[in-house]
Parts: sequence; C-alpha cells; structure tokens
Amino acid sequence: ATPTSIMVGTGRAAESGILFKGGEHIEQAYKIQSVVFDKTGTITNGKPVVTDFNGDDETLLLLASAEKGSEHPLAEAITQHAEEKQLDLLSTTDFEAIPGRGITAKIDNKHIIVGNRQLMKEYKVDSRKEEEHLLELENEGKTAMLIAIDGKIRGTVAVADTIKENAKEAINQLKDMNIQVVMLTGDNERTAKAIGRLAGIDHIIAEVLPEEKAENIKALQKDGTAVAMVGDGINDAPALAVADIGIAIGTGTEIAIEAADITILGGDLLLVSKAIKISQATIKNIK
Ligand code: ADP
Ligand code: MG
Repeated sequence: ATPTSIMVGTGRAAESGILFKGGEHIEQAYKIQSVVFDKTGTITNGKPVVTDFNGDDETLLLLASAEKGSEHPLAEAITQHAEEKQLDLLSTTDFEAIPGRGITAKIDNKHIIVGNRQLMKEYKVDSRKEEEHLLELENEGKTAMLIAIDGKIRGTVAVADTIKENAKEAINQLKDMNIQVVMLTGDNERTAKAIGRLAGIDHIIAEVLPEEKAENIKALQKDGTAVAMVGDGINDAPALAVADIGIAIGTGTEIAIEAADITILGGDLLLVSKAIKISQATIKNIK
C-alpha cells in the first residue's frame, strides 16, 4: 500500500466515524473472514432495566444494597430500580465481585449472594426449585439472577437489555459480504440465544468467563481464519488485543479502546462492515 492511498482511506474512514489507530490496520482489515461480537453494550445498548422481581421487601432491600458496590450494568439496573422505589440502601461490609458470576456482601451480619447458578453452586446453595422460573425468564432474553441470604434462596431478579436499533442490519451486511458472524458472551446460553435470534446471529458462544474470551478468539483463528472482535468492556480487552483486528465501541470503556486497532464512534454497528469495505477499497487502489 502506498502512503497516499493509506492516508486517503484513513481520512475517508475518519469522516464516517471509524478511527484506525495506524496505517497497518487499514491494510489488514480487508482480510477479515469472521466477526465476533460481545453481547452486552455491543449488540445491546448496555442499559438493562429490571423487568421481574420475585421476593419480599427485605430481600429487595438487601439485594439493592449489596449491588451498590458493583459497577456492572446489571448492578446499575438493580440500584436504579431501588432508587425508583425510594429505598434507603443499607451499608455493606466485605463486598466482593466474582467476575462472570456475581457478587457477595455482608449486611448486618447477613451474608448476601447475588448471581447466576454457578455462583450458587460454588456456595453450595440449592437453587433447584427456582430452575423452572429461571428458564422461563431466560427464554425471553432476560438475564436472571438468584438472591441468597444466609445460604438460602430468597428471591430472583431479572434484567433485560434492548438490542441496538441497527444491529440486525449491521449483521446482515456482514453476512452479505460472506463474513461469518459470532456472538461471545458471559451471559447464559438461553438468554444469549434469544438475543442472537433478534440480531440474526446463530453462532453463539455463551457462558464464557472474562479470562476465557481471548482463548475463544484464538480457537477461531486456529485454521487460519482472520478474526475481528468487536467489544466495549474491560473484560473484552484481551480478546480485542488477540484478534487480527480489534474494534472498540466508542461509547465503551477506555481500556477496550486502548486494546483495539479501530474505534467506531457512537457505537454504530454499521461502521463494522464499512471499515472492512474501506480497507478493501484501499487495497484495491494500490494493487
Ligand atoms: P457479559 O459478557 O454479557 O458482559 P459478564 O461476564 O460480565 O457478562 O457476567 C456474566 C454473568 O455473571 C451475568 O449474566 C450474571 O449472571 C452474573 N453477574 C455478573 N455480575 C453480576 C452482578 N453484579 N450481580 C449479579 N450477577 C452478576
Ligand atoms: Mg460488554
């Protein structure tokens, strides 16, 4: 590629809201055969709201108080819900976030655990009675969480996120370019599949722990496939770095933007296929 054609391509991209970190990335993006999307904050708007709560008033108060210590979008949805109900939250001790699973905290000597099935299993809390209700919520595309107090399930809470308006169109454009589309998420399989259905993605890799996201990208690259990763979160940063092209959502975290090769402004997913097309045009001009 000549320096001039790279400069023209980079400039054209920037005008559309696609920021290439360096000329070498515009020379590589045309090769992409597979695009992997994170779910929360990438395919979805990342602003989930509480849709269902099952439990008594004390459980809701303890739940929201415990989640106050977490910066996870799920936690923000729960504390927002408590704020709307004008609850006076209690202070916690021994708060701990368990990435990809949930949180634990102590309030007035009560031990609170909030999170998914795996977390309950790890704390030996029996959640079998809630299973049917959880499945129902998850099939609706909601993220369902269990609440345990002193080792016993006391309630469930479900949170739902909305899918980005142009997600389906953006994914269709990639498919039209013969690019494989994958969704990679820490959320459970049923919720992920329901969101995938809405977005038009059928290749779903779910229940992936934050530290496993990069491993999954490497597995997709094994047969020589050139893989792009699109993500917004701290937990996406290693995967963005490992991918042939890392694409950060401009509305996402600073850490994701730093790890990526491209940033798309405003989180507009249509810019993913556009970035690849601009790279293809840049390469064609010079060959
Ligand atoms: P994603 O990849 O979609 O951003 P995460 O890996 O952050 O998801 O989280 C995976 C799962 O862990 C969530 O779907 C939820 O069940 C549980 N979890 C994570 N953080 C919390 C929290 N603060 N409170 C309750 N559950 C949580
Ligand atoms: Mg995310």
